[in-house]
Amino acid sequence: MADKLISKIPDGPLAEKWTKRKSEIHLVSPNNKRKLEIIVVGTGLGGASAAASLGELGYNVKVFCISDSPRRAHSIAAQGGINAAKNYQNDNDSIYRLFYDTIKGGDYRAREANVYRLAEVSAAIIDQCVAQGIPFAREYGGYLANRSFGGVQVSRTFYARGQTGQQLLLGAYASLNKEIAAGTVKSYPRHEMLDLVIINGEAKGIIARNLVTGQLERFGAHAVVIATGGYGNTYFLSTNAMNSNGSAAMQCYRKGAYFANPCFAQIHPTCIPVHGDQQCKLTLMSESLRNDGRIWVPKKLEDVEKLRKHKIKASQIPEEDRDYYLERRYPAFGNLVPRDVASRAAKERCDAGFGVNETGKAVFLDFSDAIRRLGHQKVAERYGNLFEMYEKITASSPWEEPMMIYPAIHYTMGGIWVDYDLQTTIPGLYAIGEANFSDHGGNRLGASALMQGLADGYFVIPVTIGDYLSHKFAEPKTDINAPEFAAAEKAVQARIDKLFAINGTETVDSIHKELGHIMWEYVGMARDEEGLKTAIAKIKELRERFYKEVKVPGTQFEFNQELEKALRLEDFFDIGELMAYDALNRRESCGGHFRVESQTEEGEAKRDDKNFMYVAAWEYKGEGKEPELHKEELKYEFIEVKTRNYKD
Ligand SMILES: Cc1cc2nc3c(=O)[nH]c(=O)nc-3n(C[C@H](O)[C@H](O)[C@H](O)COP(=O)(O)OP(=O)(O)OC[C@H]3O[C@@H](n4cnc5c(N)ncnc54)[C@H](O)[C@@H]3O)c2cc1C
Repeated sequence: MADKLISKIPDGPLAEKWTKRKSEIHLVSPNNKRKLEIIVVGTGLGGASAAASLGELGYNVKVFCISDSPRRAHSIAAQGGINAAKNYQNDNDSIYRLFYDTIKGGDYRAREANVYRLAEVSAAIIDQCVAQGIPFAREYGGYLANRSFGGVQVSRTFYARGQTGQQLLLGAYASLNKEIAAGTVKSYPRHEMLDLVIINGEAKGIIARNLVTGQLERFGAHAVVIATGGYGNTYFLSTNAMNSNGSAAMQCYRKGAYFANPCFAQIHPTCIPVHGDQQCKLTLMSESLRNDGRIWVPKKLEDVEKLRKHKIKASQIPEEDRDYYLERRYPAFGNLVPRDVASRAAKERCDAGFGVNETGKAVFLDFSDAIRRLGHQKVAERYGNLFEMYEKITASSPWEEPMMIYPAIHYTMGGIWVDYDLQTTIPGLYAIGEANFSDHGGNRLGASALMQGLADGYFVIPVTIGDYLSHKFAEPKTDINAPEFAAAEKAVQARIDKLFAINGTETVDSIHKELGHIMWEYVGMARDEEGLKTAIAKIKELRERFYKEVKVPGTQFEFNQELEKALRLEDFFDIGELMAYDALNRRESCGGHFRVESQTEEGEAKRDDKNFMYVAAWEYKGEGKEPELHKEELKYEFIEVKTRNYKD
């Protein structure tokens, strides 16, 4: 293990590690907290909860986001729910089970200690959110309701209809506003971080572009927290918000933060299929639908043909001619297998010719059974807004015909490498929420991202950052006139000038779309050595073309979204390439990463624990150079490592 990869996992029994770490951590007294400044970049569930909590503790916080209001972060789109080991259903749930399911769901590529802590604090998140007034769904008697998500056999998902992310974010945003009013947090909406500033090896600030005026601005602090979300939009088409990007993570990577497991990207099985080539966004149909919806394709190819020619409707295909392939292949979990398993199974059926729409890339998600069993009203209560959304987009009513769905890029498990304290390989730089790599291994279970973002923001970072800052309160405020700030700003300005100078003929989106095609084709649901090498070569070629042919209209000193997109696309090239390098190195199938060369006779993913039971942490070695791989070995002391089995 390279020196920098010190995970700082406390020793001792699993259930006592977090308590132990908390008791060791140095405290910062209230009068010293007032002297310390922290930058939080991002106002999704991770960033908003962290900024609010740090402000409440008495630190001076500056919080940044791209949107016009912090409450419009991508987290607002989260639909289905948030997990917590409350065992309200008395179905034998526990912290251990949530921990176990998460490690198993992640295909044994996450750290035991981090995941156990996540499960441990999950119950407190629900208490915190209830105290904030989040309108979680309740049973008739007033108790909080739960439903199930993929990869588990208990009901531990708390939800607010199909708008859980929105409600949770409103709670975090309210807390944030309280601190803004109190003066401990200063909010900088429409400010995009464009570089990290390092002084004497420590993170000391950022360069941000005011997206309204176009000015570059310098911000200093004693520590920087990155909460900028995932990099799924590398694929152009994804379920992520249009503004989601991986740029801040890449800026940190280029300044020395290691980037972990970039190839672990999640492909969600239940999205509305791609429709034509003018689309710039894919829509997720929440995983909660798999509680009651049944996934199938026709058994007979002749029915597939008739469906494609619109000669019959799905509802006309008799029960005995339907292949409920998830229930058939995975009887113990059925339609609630984890996302990676469900996505691959859909691809397998479609590749075999059973895909049900004109493109052959769709399967059915059918509620007819549920409507018969539960009645219209109950189904409407659970999924009404999702049904409406589906109908608005496709002009087909799920009440009458099954939904058509297909896998799409949704979430990225990889991210900035962090230790147990969520500190990166750069002292003073922290990463939380989807931006870090920490808790989900090779595959994230549904409803666990919101849990992780809020665990990091409300409960972990407010404690762990104190350990670092307890040695910093005597340091003066960071001087933004320091030469390091000037150099970083100059470098950003040079990037911007270079983009305007190209003055080619192609739009940023058209080139990004091509990058997306390369990624989906070669670094998508199935990956092999040749394809990954092709991807790396093609990304390099496309990057070269970008620097010759792109046209960025307008000027820097105005609201210029084409410039914003061009800067982000530069970073998507780097991420895409890094993902391909990582996927090429990981010659095993694991979670969402399926290497064609590594599969069982039944076509299931085949892990290689002997050679790949590690976190792949990549170090930037300079422009045009191959990144260097560092390995953090994963040790499983408290869980038996097995082949994932959702069959029995
Ligand atoms: C459609 C959809 C539904 C989902 N449903 C669920 C669900 O039901 N349950 C679940 O657990 N998970 C769900 N997820 C996943 C979950 O929503 C995300 O993983 C999570 O919200 C990420 O939160 P975050 O705080 O890490 O980042 P985000 O919410 O992505 O926020 C990122 C923030 O960073 C800011 N930012 C980014 N770059 C910069 C920059 N350079 N400078 C300044 N600011 C920047 C943005 O403006 C934003 O404020 C869903 C995801 C999608 C796409």
